[in-house]
Amino acid sequence: MSNPVILTDICVIGGGMVGLTSALKLAQKGMNVTLCAPKETVEDTRTTAFLMDTVKFFEELELWRRLEDKAFPLKTMRIVDGTNRLIRAPQTDFKSSEIEMEAFGYNLKNADVLRVLNAEIDKQENILRIDGSVETIDTKDNREILSIKTDTDVKSISTGFVIGADGRNSIVRQSKNVTVKDWQYPQTALVVNFAHERSSEFTSTEFHTETGPFTIVPHTHNSAGLVWIETPENVEELLKQSKETMEKTLEEKMQSFLGKITLKSSPQSFPIKGLVANSFGEENWAIIGEAAHVFPPIGAQGFNLGVRDIEALAKILGRYTNQENRGQAYHRARRHDINTRTYGVDMLNRSLLSDFLPVQMLRGFGLQVLGSFKPLRKYAMKMGISPNI
Ligand SMILES: Cc1cc2nc3c(=O)[nH]c(=O)nc-3n(C[C@H](O)[C@H](O)[C@H](O)COP(=O)(O)OP(=O)(O)OC[C@H]3O[C@@H](n4cnc5c(N)ncnc54)[C@H](O)[C@@H]3O)c2cc1C
Repeated sequence: MSNPVILTDICVIGGGMVGLTSALKLAQKGMNVTLCAPKETVEDTRTTAFLMDTVKFFEELELWRRLEDKAFPLKTMRIVDGTNRLIRAPQTDFKSSEIEMEAFGYNLKNADVLRVLNAEIDKQENILRIDGSVETIDTKDNREILSIKTDTDVKSISTGFVIGADGRNSIVRQSKNVTVKDWQYPQTALVVNFAHERSSEFTSTEFHTETGPFTIVPHTHNSAGLVWIETPENVEELLKQSKETMEKTLEEKMQSFLGKITLKSSPQSFPIKGLVANSFGEENWAIIGEAAHVFPPIGAQGFNLGVRDIEALAKILGRYTNQENRGQAYHRARRHDINTRTYGVDMLNRSLLSDFLPVQMLRGFGLQVLGSFKPLRKYAMKMGISPNI
């Protein structure tokens, strides 16, 4: 006998940080949510900087108090030109105190955030979790019909609205025949956590190099996460290094400014690409997070942009009826912010990779102006942390 069809208001596909957060937000608004994602088997060793709007969002979800003690404030963002090029930019410090803020945001381990989100979801009566992968999505009588493969069987869901939070290869995006603009960078991110001798003084330091940024984001006074963007070939070689050799490599690369380095996790690598969907929603579906936009991890934008997707979608689903084109309303609400951030980060990354002298001059000049002209620096800082200035 086949399984009965599961009926639900909303179906969220994807158990990453964006999918879990959206399921909780919608359940909090009183909707019945089904969450479908395969069980994660590998621990995510990355960290994410929650900018202040995201912190506020988590406060409203009543989850911030459970994350607060694991979060570390980011008060200074330092950019150091580590290139060997003819035109080099001066070191530029952005301090949150200049814009009357305690911190730009708080850095958290993804594993801690995922643990808190999963524990909260398990407590919610109006969230049904199905551990499995969505294989097909079809539209019938103004409803979305999903087939989900679990370890034991295939389940069928009929939902009034489907949300794709299913990452960069989104099945929702593909099933809805959404075209994308996508592009490759000659880069891979190497991510590793480490302890260090000297205090980082609440400062996140970004060394700009010819192959991409080398960014140290503090976890505590004496530990940090590294996101090192390099060529795929160099990352492959770095991953072969023994623990001791990599500790030496990192210390040299940082010119010992944090003292002795001790690795605290195994290095992981993430290929870097860019993608932006040509539609973020239509009728009874929407895509959020990396299903809709992917860009290099520069300036702590990706997850924070995903949280703004959730905010917009939750408002629309709470306000519009299912007779209205909710997906299209979401698309209209999000296209400006998503396109501005995606192409902004792309331009910044390309300005680092470019050997073209006028581009280097522009980047150097831009940083010099930002460093010396206070009103512009304040404006850039505010724009970096929130589009709602
Ligand atoms: C090195 C690095 C550092 C970063 N640092 C920051 C930072 O400091 N600040 C910041 O804001 N952002 C940062 N980002 C970006 C941020 O990590 C991403 O924006 C965010 O993790 C995307 O989350 P997501 O939930 O959309 O996607 P994912 O985390 O990829 O989750 C996708 C989910 O969908 C599930 N799934 C896929 N296919 C199916 C299917 N067919 N059926 C069911 N489920 C499916 C997967 O199993 C997974 O659970 C960083 C990114 C990288 C690579």
